Amino acid sequence: MGVTANSVWNNCLAFIQDNIQPQAFKTWFEPIQPIKLSENALSIQVPSKFFYEWLEEHYVKLLKVALTKELGENAKLVYIIKMENTYGNRAPFTERIPSSNRGNVMPQEMDVPIKSKNPELKNPFVIPGIRNIKIESQLNPNYNFDNFLEGDSNRLARSAGMAVANKPGGTSFNPLLIFGGVGLGKTHLAHAIGVEIKDKYPERTVLYISAEKFTQQYIESVKKNTRNDFIHFYQLIDVLIIDDVQFLSGKSGTQDVFFHIFNHLHQNGKQVILTSDKAPVDMQDIEQRLLSRFKWGLSAELQNPDYETRISILRNKLYRDGVEMPEDIVEYVAKHIKTNIRELEGAIISLIAQSSFNKKEVTLELAQQVVEKFVKNTKREVSIDYIQKVVSDYFEMDVATLQSKTRKRHIVQARQLAMFFAKKFTKASLASIGSQIGKRDHATVLHACKTVDNLAETDKQFRKYIEDLTKKFS
Ligand code: ADP
Ligand code: MG
Repeated sequence: MGVTANSVWNNCLAFIQDNIQPQAFKTWFEPIQPIKLSENALSIQVPSKFFYEWLEEHYVKLLKVALTKELGENAKLVYIIKMENTYGNRAPFTERIPSSNRGNVMPQEMDVPIKSKNPELKNPFVIPGIRNIKIESQLNPNYNFDNFLEGDSNRLARSAGMAVANKPGGTSFNPLLIFGGVGLGKTHLAHAIGVEIKDKYPERTVLYISAEKFTQQYIESVKKNTRNDFIHFYQLIDVLIIDDVQFLSGKSGTQDVFFHIFNHLHQNGKQVILTSDKAPVDMQDIEQRLLSRFKWGLSAELQNPDYETRISILRNKLYRDGVEMPEDIVEYVAKHIKTNIRELEGAIISLIAQSSFNKKEVTLELAQQVVEKFVKNTKREVSIDYIQKVVSDYFEMDVATLQSKTRKRHIVQARQLAMFFAKKFTKASLASIGSQIGKRDHATVLHACKTVDNLAETDKQFRKYIEDLTKKFS
């Protein structure tokens, strides 16, 4: 028998099944159908776009390892999306998306080319009935409180989340804003709150949505002249969870509509939960009136997890996946990946996959290779925003102070250091650095860089600043 889509996929499944929990396998892999094999591209059909995004986010590495094993280095994966037919009797249609899983690039670095090709879906969450409108929560049950491990870094946010889940709309944490860096658990915690509420109060309407999708829906509604329907839809919700609200920055139309929705919900005792990668004071291009609403409730930060927490997250992950791993390996990974839980998990998953792929035992050496590759590959360029934040934090001032027109020496120095690091660690032009750091011109940035160089040679204290800060960026 020759190689067919079926045989290739079945082999992949066997491998995948060995590497993930049975429940996850059942949920995410059993519904997939192999459709076609041409040369080294396997086409698989998945039930929905959400499903596809989920696979890409959580299982792309595993899929890649499995498929490479079957079809060699140039293996490609093509998704075919079977749309849920939520609108009357229209026949389901399919959408074809080439997987981003191509070549050797790590998935984190690639854009996922999803285009909204389903303009008919006015609001993907409404399933029209006679009177009773059912809203799908879009919650991921795998993100719950049980597997959101507690540590010093997240205790406040986690317990505020629990309090909100126990009494949605009935605490002073309204809105609850969870903020923190990439991969620190904002999305997980936001889902956990929603899942818990659904569990305790099944009759309440909970909706999780990313700010990006919210924006897309809004723009679509304006185009189609259904802005009122859009607003009305959101006003029906009891618990609204919006992820990554920093995405709204600069989008004044969406901010405006969100402001009205927010007020309506808040006045009616409904709960709003938001996440953001920045604290409200550091959010830029968000209208003041909206920022002031964000501050009504509680802003709780998710900080970098300490070593103990990292260890317990790894152990828990291994335990849930039913994998055993020598203690020194776990410690090695926890020691080297410090600021991003997604990367921490990613490294351990790679290790598991690598070891079963190559039938190798997981040795410290293998762990070193994986961690090194992982850290290198996922290192993104630091942003100028981030540099300003780190420098401001270091000098215990806020970003607005750093950017202000003042000539106070310590503030000027902080600003010059921010410019210096922006030049050093980003590809931005002098002009662009200047405009982002307090609207200065390129000559000012150039002067700042020279001043920092000079001071580094002559001033010991200043050199210490540079060393400390450099560590934070590498
Ligand atoms: P963010 O939205 O802040 O970028 P996510 O919520 O997507 O981060 O979290 C990244 C990964 O780390 C997810 O797989 C999540 O389950 C995991 N994670 C984050 N915090 C914890 C925690 N406290 N316990 C267990 N897993 C966590
Ligand atoms: Mg997130």
